[in-house]
Amino acid sequence: MTRETREHLERWLDRLMAYVEGTLPKPDVEEVQRHLASCHACQVLLENIQRLREQLQVLESELRLSPEARLRLYQRLNEERRKRGDAPLTIPQALLEEVRRQALDATEATEEEVKK
Ligand SMILES: [Zn+2]
Repeated sequence: MTRETREHLERWLDRLMAYVEGTLPKPDVEEVQRHLASCHACQVLLENIQRLREQLQVLESELRLSPEARLRLYQRLNEERRKRGDAPLTIPQALLEEVRRQALDATEATEEEVKK
């Protein structure tokens, strides 16, 4: 990426983010849409803003959920993304470890013994 492209993207970033949030005034929305129609770099930037925003929403949901529910959320989102042809979200290794550990702890709590 050239320095000019980088500077161009930085000039449009705030407006594109406000556009995604739906907080941009109407005349600016029209200006952004006209620009997007002819600027591929900003189209890619817009897609990246939307993708990161989606991942952020996943993280926000995660904070209020148990590890098992968080794992199911990832699995469900990835199922939807697979149907759309999008790349799957990476399930954090720490989350998988947490679910593994809780599954072991829960089993241990039942005092189930293996037969020798
Ligand atoms: Zn542009």
